[in-house]
Amino acid sequence: MFLCCVCDEKRKVTGSRPAAGVCPNCGGGTSQVRVLNMFRFCFIPVCCTTHSRLMCTRCGAQLRR
Ligand SMILES: [Zn+2]
Repeated sequence: MFLCCVCDEKRKVTGSRPAAGVCPNCGGGTSQVRVLNMFRFCFIPVCCTTHSRLMCTRCGAQLRR
C-alpha cells in the first residue's frame, strides 16, 4: 500500500460515442468509450496508453465485442 504514495494509475475517459448492441445484464444501450491510462511515478507520467472499450450506459458494465 505504500507504493500507492509514489506510484499510481489514472484513468480518464477521453471520449465516447453510441455503439450498436445492448447490454446482456440490463438490456440498456452501449457506447464505445476511449479510456486513457496514465501511470505516474512520483507524480511524473511515465506511461500513457489509450484503448477503447464497449460499456453499458445504464449499468456501467464493460462488455466484450
Ligand atoms: Zn447494463
